[in-house]
Amino acid sequence: MTTNLLDFDLEGLAAFCDRLGEKRFRATQLFRWMHQRGADDFDGMSDLAKSLREKLKTCAHVQALPVLTEQSSADGTVKWLFDVGDGNAVETVFIPEDDRGTLCVSSQAGCAVGCRFCSTGHQGFSRNLKTSEIVAQLWYAEHALRRRLGTSERVISNVVMMGMGEPLQNYSALVPALRTMLDDHGYGLSRRRVTVSTSGVVPMIDRLAQDCPVALAVSLHAPNDALRDNLVPLNRKYPIAELLEACNRYLAHAPRDFITFEYCMLADVNDQPEHAQQIIDLVRQYQRQGGVWGKFNLIPFNPFPASGLVRSAPQRVAAFAKLLSDAGIVTTVRKTRGDDIDAACGQLAGDVKDRTRVGERMAQQRVVVITPARAVPIASTN
Ligand code: SAH
Ligand code: SF4
Repeated sequence: MTTNLLDFDLEGLAAFCDRLGEKRFRATQLFRWMHQRGADDFDGMSDLAKSLREKLKTCAHVQALPVLTEQSSADGTVKWLFDVGDGNAVETVFIPEDDRGTLCVSSQAGCAVGCRFCSTGHQGFSRNLKTSEIVAQLWYAEHALRRRLGTSERVISNVVMMGMGEPLQNYSALVPALRTMLDDHGYGLSRRRVTVSTSGVVPMIDRLAQDCPVALAVSLHAPNDALRDNLVPLNRKYPIAELLEACNRYLAHAPRDFITFEYCMLADVNDQPEHAQQIIDLVRQYQRQGGVWGKFNLIPFNPFPASGLVRSAPQRVAAFAKLLSDAGIVTTVRKTRGDDIDAACGQLAGDVKDRTRVGERMAQQRVVVITPARAVPIASTN
């Protein structure tokens, strides 16, 4: 087996080149060929010495992921399903907007956290992605989109680790992937435009602050521990108080001076005025300085079969947003994108061979407190 060079950040590649007796600037050249030019064939890397190219061919390769399907939404969103072997597949979504192009990247095949409202969580967990498999999603999407648009300019300006999986439960593969995204010789993305979204793995939030402080999004979804224990089972390990303290520690290192909190709006579960009031109380309790401390991003729940949950009505979402805004909390309602191709938040299911049987356990537990009182037409908020 030769080494897949997509597994390395620039430091890792420099160490690899060093082992081959090659100077650091060779690593930089190679890195630029791969990430800036999308090259996967050493023969095409014309400014590398022929002897180095021959050496590389014997011990290394540049391998992305096979594409199983590609779907385009009416709104321009593109979703790819990548094969990661052994019957597992992960999804990646490109969301074009006027002023940016955002790629939503997966970090695991499945997810072990098992949030009730998330279709990835319902599938259970198969395995962590390797650095190369995380980076390959960006590598492929960036260069495929450039070819399609006939441009040599960068197409993807933002990355959100909001695809399948809990990125902070795959920390050692995540960090080199983030560094590759940020590296000026790689994708050159700004720290503020790379976001790690987490359900709240507190010790890893602290490590990320030291190792690679990018923008942080925290999936809160509930303003009290009883409800959050139920919706986001990881809360039983890292309850809200510990999570928000970790957010405060992170802010000292973060590229932005606020944390984004995500809140999936579930009818009659977490969308009542008392929940908004509890959020306001939490913000007042944890906010350390004046100004914006946390921004709330309300995500209308994207339904999927078997969730047993219902999206909050648009009026309910608007009323909830108003309560938070009136209390001085910056609040946005996320517009659903790509839901005609099941590419919206929480609909990414890929294809996962559950090795932990989380899916099965969840199926058994699904008779929970969460029994929506009435159905809300799904299309009404779009
Ligand atoms: N595991 C990480 C990142 C992936 S999930 C996390 O939980 O943060 C990305 C975002 O989509 C999270 O905020 C998640 O809570 C949200 N999400 C999951 N399922 C959803 C659904 N069915 N509808 C709307 N948002 C959902
Ligand atoms: Fe995992 Fe995030 Fe889905 Fe929860 S919301 S199950 S942490 S991917």
